[in-house]
Amino acid sequence: MDKITEMYSTVNANVHRGVHFLSQAATEEHEASRETVQQFINAASPNEIVFTRGATESVNMVASSFCSRFCSEGDEILITAMEHHSNIVPWQLQGEKQGLKLRVAPINEKGELLLEELEKLISPRTKLIAVTHISNVLGTINPIEEIIEIAHRHDVPVLIDAAQSVQHCRVDVQQLNCDFLVFSSHKIYGPTGVGVLYGKEKWLNAIPPYQGGGEMIETVSFEKTTFNKLPYKFEAGTPDYIGTAALATALDYISALGIDEIAHYEHKLLEFATEKLLSVPGLRIIGNAANKSSVISFLVDGIHPYDMGTLLDRMGIAVRTGHHCAEPLMHVLGVEGTVRASFAFYNTKEEVDLLLKGIERIGRLF
Ligand code: PLP
Repeated sequence: MDKITEMYSTVNANVHRGVHFLSQAATEEHEASRETVQQFINAASPNEIVFTRGATESVNMVASSFCSRFCSEGDEILITAMEHHSNIVPWQLQGEKQGLKLRVAPINEKGELLLEELEKLISPRTKLIAVTHISNVLGTINPIEEIIEIAHRHDVPVLIDAAQSVQHCRVDVQQLNCDFLVFSSHKIYGPTGVGVLYGKEKWLNAIPPYQGGGEMIETVSFEKTTFNKLPYKFEAGTPDYIGTAALATALDYISALGIDEIAHYEHKLLEFATEKLLSVPGLRIIGNAANKSSVISFLVDGIHPYDMGTLLDRMGIAVRTGHHCAEPLMHVLGVEGTVRASFAFYNTKEEVDLLLKGIERIGRLF
């Protein structure tokens, strides 16, 4: 918030446009933010970092640009049963335009991806695999290194939805060797309305721009336009240079805390909370993967998730309820919705105890 105020107060001018001081200062901030993102996910070059409005827009960008260049009728995009709507619907929208099919890799009853089944679903028509790193419902941490390895063996590129992972564990795009990766600023303590698309330079160079406008062009005439170099080719219009600076500030904050320390602390909290919640009579945890991040989806016999959520809210406890933007997963799990408690580095064991007491109290009420 301080960074946003500072930016509006001191360097609020459009980037890449002016020779005047304010514009240059804003441009320097914006490009330094890109380098901060690059270093945070260890991308090979700042050219591979495209600023977007969020993970959702980043997926839409790849669905539109990648598919229009590399897919034709009958081709397939492979996703998993645990995807967020934002990693399902963009492929369907593009699929309708081009006659593409969506294939869905199944999960087991613990909420783990069935890797062998995923590999069986790869066909000569598979053009891309789009998979979430961490499920926002189940907390499952998918073995994305293996998935990427399998996909590349079949010459298929991979998009990683890291919306739920960059804030919880180390993500190194060069080590992973993923082709695309997306995340949102607001889920890593930055401002809303900003996101990132990482893409290997070879892919970003090969696919067409997503939107047209200022900034993304090299030369324009009424007859023909040539496009700017990376990453500007994908950043049509005035970017949210104040939002990107605030995102960079949030990333610096996370780096100073230490992402590995955060992962370690949150894992301890998850273990503590899991044990506590399982002691509640009639409580069932949805998502019991061996490798799990710090979210717990649960249901208590005889209590509708909305009732649980509403009553916990009265006690000052914020949980999410419903289908969590993963309706197809709810169908797979055979539930209408769940209650989800999400833990971050700022949560404490005392708060877990309060949640437990709240759930027990509601149980007695019912
Ligand atoms: N992917 C996952 C796994 C998510 O949990 C979310 C949001 O909850 C998104 C994508 C979409 O993020 P955004 O709404 O910030 O674009």
